Amino acid sequence: MINLIRLLTIVAILSCTTVPVGDNNPRITNNFNNIAPEIEVYLSEFNELTGLKSDNLTAGFGDLRLREGAIGVCFNFGKGKKEIEIDRWFWRGSSGISKKALVFHEAVHCLCGKGHSFHGKRYKEAKEEETPDTDDPKELEKKGYFPDKCALSIMHPKIQPDFCLKAHWNEYLKEMINSCAN
Ligand SMILES: [Zn+2]
Repeated sequence: MINLIRLLTIVAILSCTTVPVGDNNPRITNNFNNIAPEIEVYLSEFNELTGLKSDNLTAGFGDLRLREGAIGVCFNFGKGKKEIEIDRWFWRGSSGISKKALVFHEAVHCLCGKGHSFHGKRYKEAKEEETPDTDDPKELEKKGYFPDKCALSIMHPKIQPDFCLKAHWNEYLKEMINSCAN
């Protein structure tokens, strides 16, 4: 019974989390001159975990969801210049772990140069990626999901619900560190 409730909760949460986390999109110039302090807190944690940092990175908040239909984007200007933009409304309504997961997700795009993948395999993009319609743990794993249907990686194109982030946080960190090291 608990499993059923859990499953229904995942379906409900995922179906309203239709907003993708953006990929490396080209943009001509940066919107921000520095890194917003609220984002910097998580970026320095990312730096401690992965050893990765960029002096050419700027980051801030905007009405991204309205403009790009995404809650986070890593913009790439070439010559190593990058910018993370986070949707300000998503940020205001989110928990600490969700904010951290989103900043880490964008940092993996911007500083590790990785796309939406798990253990080196790619997810489909947000519009097409769906939680597999199976309860077989092996099938789920092959497609990038834990047996409880949480994604195997924070690089899933959609930000995972809080209970997934809490239940699998250490596994997410490990996967993230490995993917950035390779
Ligand atoms: Zn992404």
